[in-house]
Amino acid sequence: MTLKANNLKENNPKKVLQNYREVMMNKQLSRWKTASFIPANNFNHLEDMWREHERIREEFHLFYPEIARKGNPSKPEFSYLDLKVKIAEKIFESCVLCEMKCEVNRNSEKGSCGVQYPQVASEFMHIGEEAPLVPSHTIFFAGCNFQCIYCQNWDISQHPEEGMPLSEAHLADIIDRRRTQGSRNVNFVGGDPTPHLPFILKTMRLSRENVPVVWNSNLYLSEEAMNLLDGFADLYLTDFKYGNDDCALRLSRVHHYWEVVTRNHKLAWQAGDMIIRHLVLPNHVQCCTKPILRWIYHNLGPEVVINIMGQYRPVYGACRYEDISRPPSRREMEEALAYARDLGFINIL
Ligand code: SF4
Repeated sequence: MTLKANNLKENNPKKVLQNYREVMMNKQLSRWKTASFIPANNFNHLEDMWREHERIREEFHLFYPEIARKGNPSKPEFSYLDLKVKIAEKIFESCVLCEMKCEVNRNSEKGSCGVQYPQVASEFMHIGEEAPLVPSHTIFFAGCNFQCIYCQNWDISQHPEEGMPLSEAHLADIIDRRRTQGSRNVNFVGGDPTPHLPFILKTMRLSRENVPVVWNSNLYLSEEAMNLLDGFADLYLTDFKYGNDDCALRLSRVHHYWEVVTRNHKLAWQAGDMIIRHLVLPNHVQCCTKPILRWIYHNLGPEVVINIMGQYRPVYGACRYEDISRPPSRREMEEALAYARDLGFINIL
C-alpha cells in the first residue's frame, strides 16, 4: 500500500490527534488549562504532594476530555497545575528531571546538561514542522541533556548560555500574542525542553489563551518528570533516535537509552496525542531504524503517527565517525519507508 504525505484525515479522521485538533480549534480546553481549573490540596512534603498528584492524575485520565469541553469554571485557590509547579520546583533543588539524575541544586549548580537558568535562543512561527502542527509557535531553549555528535542545532544545544533570559510573564505574553496571530500550538524544544520543565510549567500558568502544548523532546525524562507532563502536555513530538544502547552511548553519550525511551513512549502514548519522529542515520537502518519501527508497531500499534526523516547531514563532530559521515542514501530511505509500510503503519507522514 502506498501512502501519501499528510493523509491523516483520509486514514483515521477521528482517532488520530483528536484531542490535539479539538484544542487547536479551541473547541475544548488544553490539558494544562484544564489542570489549572482542578482543585488540589496544598501539602508541604514532597511525598504528600506526589500522593495528591497521583490521585488527581488517575481521575484526570478518566475525565479528560469530558471536563475540558465544559468551558472555563472558576479558578480554585490551589490547582493541579499549581501542584505540578510546586513539585517541579522541589525536584529542581536536587535535579532528577531527566534520567541523568544529577541530583544537583539547580538554583546554585549545573548538572551534566550545563543548564542553570533558562535562556531562549529563539521563538518564531515555524512552518517547517509536520503539517498538523503548522504554523507552530516554536520556542528554542538553549542547552540539552544529550551531546549528540551530529546535532543539527549544536550551536544552541551545546551552549546553554546562548540566548536571552526571559521572565515567565514575558514569555507567557509572547505565547498569548502568537496564539492570537494564528499559532496552532506552542512547541517547546531546544536542545531539549526537559531541563526547563519548572520554568515552562510556570510560564503556562501565566498564559491566558487556550493553546495546545507540544512537548518536542528526546524523551529522556525521568519517570517523575513524565508524570508531571501527564495532564500538562497535549501532544508529544518525540525524537526516537536509537534502536540499542551502544549506538546511543557512542553517538549521544547517554546510558540506558532503550529502557528509558521505550518506557517514556508508553507513558506518553497513554497521556496525550503523539507524533514520533525518527531521523534515519546512514549505516544505522538495521541497528536503529528497524528495531525502533518494530518496537513502536508492536507496543503502540499501527495508528501511531510516524515521521521517518531523511534530512540528516553530517555536521558538528559527525565527520569524525565514519559510519555517519554522509547523508543517508536513497536506498536506505526507501528501505526504511518500505519496512514501516510492510509492518502495517497507517499514518506515515
Ligand atoms: S536536567 Fe538532567 S542533565 Fe540537567 S541537571 Fe537535571 S538531571 Fe542533570
